[in-house]
Amino acid sequence: MPQIFQVLRCYKCRVFQVQQSKKSLKWKCKMCGEKQSTQKVHGSGSGSDCRKHVQKLNMLCGELREGVEMSSAAKISPNKVSRVSCCHGEL
Ligand SMILES: [Zn+2]
Repeated sequence: MPQIFQVLRCYKCRVFQVQQSKKSLKWKCKMCGEKQSTQKVHGSGSGSDCRKHVQKLNMLCGELREGVEMSSAAKISPNKVSRVSCCHGEL
């Protein structure tokens, strides 16, 4: 019988990760080492399935975070700067 894994999310560092499914609800975050109990299972299945799911979830969250950073960085992007200098030329 293949091992069942679960996709869990650390409440502290908010990172999705694969944990081996076990009777106990207690697990330890691989990133920050925080011990916690399972609040929500985001997915379960084989190890490779869970790893793929974790990658997807972490990527989506990373994109959201980067999206904020990118929008603030866009203000000083070369395109914006040239547009600003165009406006100045018109004025
Ligand atoms: Zn953590």
